[in-house]
Amino acid sequence: MQSFLNLGLDEDLLKAVQQMGFETPSEIQSKAIPQLLEKETDLVALAQTGTGKTAAFGFPLLQKIDTKRKVVQGLIIAPTRELCLQITTELGKYAQFKKGTRIVAVYGGASVREQAESIKSGVQIVVATPGRLLDLIQRKMLRIDQIEYCVLDEADEMLNMGFYQDIKSILSYTPEDKLTWLFSATMPAEVAQIAKEFMHRPVEITVGSKNEGATSVSHFVYTVSARNKYAALKRIVDSDPQLFAVIFCRTKRETQKIAEKLIEDGYNAGALHGDLSQNQRDLVMAGFRKRQIQILVATDVAARGIDVDDITHVIHYQLPDEPETYNHRSGRTGRAGKTGHSLCLCTNSDRRKIEQFERKLKKKFNFAEVPSVAGIIENQLKSLADKLKDTEVDESIESYMPLLEETLASIDRDTLLRKVFGEAYNRLAQYYLKENFSSENTSESSSRAKHGEVRFFINLGERDGFNWKSMKDYLKDALELQREDIFKVDTLNNFSFFNVDAGLTDLVLEAFKDTEHNGYRVSVEVTKQGGGSGDKGKSKKGNFKTKPSRNFSKNSKKTTGKRKRKGFY
Ligand code: ADP
Ligand code: MG
Repeated sequence: MQSFLNLGLDEDLLKAVQQMGFETPSEIQSKAIPQLLEKETDLVALAQTGTGKTAAFGFPLLQKIDTKRKVVQGLIIAPTRELCLQITTELGKYAQFKKGTRIVAVYGGASVREQAESIKSGVQIVVATPGRLLDLIQRKMLRIDQIEYCVLDEADEMLNMGFYQDIKSILSYTPEDKLTWLFSATMPAEVAQIAKEFMHRPVEITVGSKNEGATSVSHFVYTVSARNKYAALKRIVDSDPQLFAVIFCRTKRETQKIAEKLIEDGYNAGALHGDLSQNQRDLVMAGFRKRQIQILVATDVAARGIDVDDITHVIHYQLPDEPETYNHRSGRTGRAGKTGHSLCLCTNSDRRKIEQFERKLKKKFNFAEVPSVAGIIENQLKSLADKLKDTEVDESIESYMPLLEETLASIDRDTLLRKVFGEAYNRLAQYYLKENFSSENTSESSSRAKHGEVRFFINLGERDGFNWKSMKDYLKDALELQREDIFKVDTLNNFSFFNVDAGLTDLVLEAFKDTEHNGYRVSVEVTKQGGGSGDKGKSKKGNFKTKPSRNFSKNSKKTTGKRKRKGFY
């Protein structure tokens, strides 16, 4: 078994290893430490979070610096303030028996002067975020032209956050013959570029599988009208029962608004923005980590440095201005070798920005359609079926089986299945009948609401070769109306729904009196629910409590009972 004793570490550092209770070196440590101690070399090391990278570069760096010289010899660059502080504390522990070692952290949001003072008093190692570091260099408060070692920690993360240019400038202030040690969890193209441009034949160490950070995220654009944005968001969420997402908005107000709307609509959502107290933010983050919160709605600033693995989707409710910000957002997903989706909800006016992002980020955006009701229902039922399949049954159910069998004796397996799924199906269909694609209460739709609108049922659906678009065309022709006069068209397998202004009710009923389609009699009726639009539920300020999951596959009675939505009867 590997031991810290034969890695080549000095006595004072080994004492710290023992003091800290490290028994055996991690894989990255046993691979990197001897290399860095023996050879004067550049290094690219790839290893997941939590594999002990700090010690892998920390111990060699501490061993190599000359504590008698009061000049900056080692520079560590890390993406966030939290990481800088973490690395500084960790290194302080490693160096506890190495007298005269001085390490300082510099990062934004704290006094520049104080940081400059501590640098002046003579330090050998500076741990810094790119922005503040560049600031200090340019203000001549810090010189890095004599450093011997430069560590880029979490390089992929830094580039994700748009620090490419900053890092390039920083490196331009360092001496040509310094050594660069790059640590990263993934190897996207930007990281490879840094390695190629600024490193000389680096030793490569990989722990676990090498993965391509940049390509594990796919990018999609949904073009929707401003009025349909929220409804589209819900459809996207509904269409993936496994979704675990961060939704980005541009302002604190919008962030709060969207989170509240989602909570009102029964989703497990939470808001994260700068107007919340630290305590509130901590609570929301804890809930998100534990997955009690399924959807985190956040501002760019508040979401900096979110390090939750397994986020399946990043949704841009509003696009950012800068391509770098887009990169930082989408970098929250597709981590640790997983695939991720970055979805943009765009209006027509966002098109140019998307083209600009494509060019600048060299990423391909796919255009996608907002999920159809039929598709959502299919996914939800499939997920329900999967869950049923994977349910582990406790033995104690046995004693109840005779009762259940007796009660259900007259029903065969097929019918039973239909009943089990039929219930979920009805609920979903009912829901979309009411809360459909254009059901937002916005100023644009309110003029319509004034006169009232009526929702119709028609007995033609996908089975008859329709989708919502062709259904709309069919209705337009049959009713001799404009496409705009027919809205909220939803097509399910056997039937469809659509709305028209209340004033046109008679016209619609009259028009379909004696109509056939492919030999079938077409039947059109006014639905009982009417055409009501929108969710009138008033939001409760500061409500971050999580409500029961709205996934249709879970304990349906309970969740629907608590739901504010009027569509469920
Ligand atoms: P990474 O940078 O790869 O995400 P860290 O360097 O932050 O990982 O280390 C993660 C945790 O593991 C830290 O709390 C650190 O103290 C601990 N650790 C590092 N190396 C060892 C080791 N050899 N034995 C036990 N714990 C270790
Ligand atoms: Mg680390």
